[in-house]
Amino acid sequence: MPGKVYLVGAGPGAADLLTLRAARLLDAADVVLYDALVAAETLTLARRAELLPVGKRAGLRSTAQQLINQHLIEAAQKHSLVVRLKGGDPMMFGRAQEEIAALDAAGIAWEVVPGVTAALGASAALGISLTRRGIARSVCFVTPRIGPEERDSEWLKAAIASDTAVLYMAGDQATQVCAALAAAGMPLARPAALVVSAATADQQVFFTTLEGLPDTIRRRHSGPALVLLGEVYGDALAAALQGADVPGAANPAQPG
Ligand code: SAH
Repeated sequence: MPGKVYLVGAGPGAADLLTLRAARLLDAADVVLYDALVAAETLTLARRAELLPVGKRAGLRSTAQQLINQHLIEAAQKHSLVVRLKGGDPMMFGRAQEEIAALDAAGIAWEVVPGVTAALGASAALGISLTRRGIARSVCFVTPRIGPEERDSEWLKAAIASDTAVLYMAGDQATQVCAALAAAGMPLARPAALVVSAATADQQVFFTTLEGLPDTIRRRHSGPALVLLGEVYGDALAAALQGADVPGAANPAQPG
């Protein structure tokens, strides 16, 4: 009998942003296959497990994903409790579907355990609601990144149509992404927040505008970064521009 694979969300950074269910599974796991974004402290919860890094940097190809699928299947053939630990939530830009499909094809049981996705970790860091009453009633989570064999999407339309837009994996192509948003009709003055390494000791927060984003992104530390756009960040931006003490704004940026 093969074991069972749990696709577990590790949350955005801090180990104590894990669910209790995730912590219990880590404690009982025989083997843990984990991503690059998972914190070292989180892994210490897996007291008796064999730890296998399968960190795939953004942009790696499907062959890398196939290798991960293969590792997962082999782990489940040898062990009874396998944890596949992913940054944030497994179902959000996390390639969980490919792994689920591979497990199904191999006849291996699986279950998903949700986690705090980066957008929610970043919002907590900012102290600004994604759906601030009277300003925003819609939010979208999008990524401009497109893989080699993927269909194009309408992410630009979604980002324009939503009151608040959260962009995952936008850091590397910030200039093109911001130009595309402006060309699609987003005002250059749209307030923006940039949160780097949310919920970790290296967390950085900036307030700027769509126009100032590429410059701000160039000045950030290395680390995973999330771009949030919307009028909900207007007050914090105005306060940052006045040099006021903005909660959580360690490094308020001037727009370009
Ligand atoms: N499944 C993850 C997302 C994986 S995609 C989740 O639910 O959060 C990787 C992208 O997530 C990064 O490029 C970055 O945009 C974002 N991200 C992940 N962790 C982050 C963090 N601690 N701070 C800011 N952005 C983060």
